[in-house]
Amino acid sequence: MNSANNGRNVGVGHRHGGGTVKAFIQKVQSHQPSLKESLNGEIQAFLTDEDQLHTYDDLTKVNPVTPTTVLQCLQARYSVKVFYTHAGCTLVALNPFQPIPDLYTLDVMKEYHSAPQPQEFKPHIFIVAEEAYRNVKGQLEPVNQSLVVSGESGAGKTWTSRCLMKYYATVAASSSVMKSQDTVERIERRVLDSNPIMEAFGNACTLRNNNSSRFGKYIQLQLDRGQLLVGASVQTYLLEKTRVACQPANERNFHIFYQMMKGATVEQRREWKMNHGQRFAWLPHSEKTLEEDCFHETVRAMVHLGINADRQRQIFRVLAGILQLGNLSFSSAVDETQPCNLEEPTKDFLQKAAELLRVPPVELQMCLRVRTLKAGKQSVLKPCSQAECSMRRDCLAKVIYAQLFEWLVMFINNSICADESTWCNFIGVLDVYGFECFYTNNLEQLCINYANEKLQQHFVAHYLRAQQEEYVTEGLQWSFIKYQDNQSCLDLIEGSPISVFSLLNEESRLNRTSDARTLRLRLEKELHDNSNISWDKFSKEPHFTVSHYAGKVNYQLQGMVEKNKDPVPPELIKLLQKSEDPLLRQVFTDKETESPNSKGLNKVTVVSKFKNSLESLMKILHTTTPHYTRCIKPNPDCKPLTFKKEEVIMQLEACGIVETIHISAAGFPIRILYKNFLQRYGLISRHINSKFRFHHVGLRVFPPCPLLALLVSLTLSYLWELLFL
Ligand code: ATP
Ligand code: MG
Repeated sequence: MNSANNGRNVGVGHRHGGGTVKAFIQKVQSHQPSLKESLNGEIQAFLTDEDQLHTYDDLTKVNPVTPTTVLQCLQARYSVKVFYTHAGCTLVALNPFQPIPDLYTLDVMKEYHSAPQPQEFKPHIFIVAEEAYRNVKGQLEPVNQSLVVSGESGAGKTWTSRCLMKYYATVAASSSVMKSQDTVERIERRVLDSNPIMEAFGNACTLRNNNSSRFGKYIQLQLDRGQLLVGASVQTYLLEKTRVACQPANERNFHIFYQMMKGATVEQRREWKMNHGQRFAWLPHSEKTLEEDCFHETVRAMVHLGINADRQRQIFRVLAGILQLGNLSFSSAVDETQPCNLEEPTKDFLQKAAELLRVPPVELQMCLRVRTLKAGKQSVLKPCSQAECSMRRDCLAKVIYAQLFEWLVMFINNSICADESTWCNFIGVLDVYGFECFYTNNLEQLCINYANEKLQQHFVAHYLRAQQEEYVTEGLQWSFIKYQDNQSCLDLIEGSPISVFSLLNEESRLNRTSDARTLRLRLEKELHDNSNISWDKFSKEPHFTVSHYAGKVNYQLQGMVEKNKDPVPPELIKLLQKSEDPLLRQVFTDKETESPNSKGLNKVTVVSKFKNSLESLMKILHTTTPHYTRCIKPNPDCKPLTFKKEEVIMQLEACGIVETIHISAAGFPIRILYKNFLQRYGLISRHINSKFRFHHVGLRVFPPCPLLALLVSLTLSYLWELLFL
């Protein structure tokens, strides 16, 4: 079955078996045991024709397909500034880490769009885009499409998603039917303008990426019967709101705060009560200049989307209020019966915060320092400790920011979503945060990595498994190619009845202060059978380690249950509901206040909410035809045109690219449904009915030319009948 390469393969030899490559393999082997097996047999086998390596547009043409040869090919292409390569059904996109002029211009878009066979052009993200666009029409009925962009942080997912959106905003533009003479009104413009807004509020500079998305995003581009872009809708996932009040070492807060600081006029600064040169505790590394510090671009996008000047002022005032909150600090209480006091120099910040959030300063202070406990019908006031006061301050900032973000997404959707009667199909673009593994990992990373596991499973189920199973069902001769199935890891995380999530939820729903050590013992007791979880017996910190498809990650249990509960003191919500700021009042009006004592099986926790939203996403993905793009980060330092083999091979291994290539290379490049085949070649259907068993052979021999393929099928079946019947 491996004949699909049909002589297009390059030769294999032993000439280049020494030196640096060997040293590299030994290095990789020493810390990547899973690679050992695959590399052992290959040390001798390298592509001889090194000069030609960069010309291989599709990794299925490389022979033999091994991690080493695939790596060599990608490196050769990268060195001649070729960043896209097909890997069968997947497109591999290497991040150049520098702008590449002429790669994404309007002319290039037009070229790919107007080509009769774009697949024959150089690999490009526009091929994927165009294929999906043409697929929407469907062979018999239209089919929705999904473009799944994956890769680790900094690999280029958001960049790629933007390219895809620009492509559709261009080729599917309803330019002939201008809705208004004013181009800023146009829907394509508005769809694109949702990007800078969401990135300003949802992205931040991290150690791994200066523009790291701190939320997941699935945008559906809505097409009408004529395949014109008429609107879009956005679904977001799990914004990392903790960043507002707590930025990891050497990382920054969300871009929007820095944009405000940099782009504000004197008047705005006065309105936001920011003195010249004032420092904010929640704005670390303000001195770092980033190109995306573009306040004006964000404001312009807001205007295009219809956020009027009043609303903008409210938004920025609230954000300024959050910054003032960050400067509050509390002194320790004299004794337990007394609430903590605000540190003297920070009293001014409280006043400013209250004015900006338009709430009474006394009440704000009270909410931060005193807890209201319900005892039957009576309320008891309990002073908060210093740590509790800080926690309440952070909580207030986080809940405001998260609600503001949600409101923005809702506003964007109202502005760009087409009326249901006007669109009939969509192309979805999925850009979720990449796999994360830091020195310390907590609930955020667990959720992010769980999302990546889900996507990997979708890929495995949809492509690696389904395709092979289909061959077997169709009675084709096929030797099963093994792949890494991550189901057991998903069972560990989300399975029922016992999993990490279920135990975490149980603990979160109990009305007691949680102890990380107790949870650690429970996890070990209940889940020790699952080989994907382990513990370092010598570690002092309560933790657990998960073997993800992309590598092992250590999760700290300290604070995980609290994060999962994500409690918001009801006093804070009530305070915000009383705000005189119309925006705050609006976003908090319907928000339920949950008593800290409330419990029960149905209590919504962070992971239960996230799991549900991911499940809905998966359901949508399953109803669409998926197209996969794997973004690869060629070096950890985001250096232009720098290719680090160790980095790349880990990522290739993690996403199972070699298995994908194997299956694609050995599989059938063209698959047409029987009924569609009959419809297309209906004229001669009398023959086809009896000779259909040969159509696969024909399609394999002449993949790009269905008519020739048909001729071959018919000839073969004629010979078959002549010889055997
Ligand atoms: P995260 O998971 O952290 O959000 P990401 O995969 O979305 O990461 P991007 O923000 O898309 O990563 O890319 C990181 C940076 O790499 C971009 O800001 C850009 O500078 C550069 N980059 C990515 N793709 C390209 C490209 N095709 N051409 C030029 N530069 C690129
Ligand atoms: Mg991103």
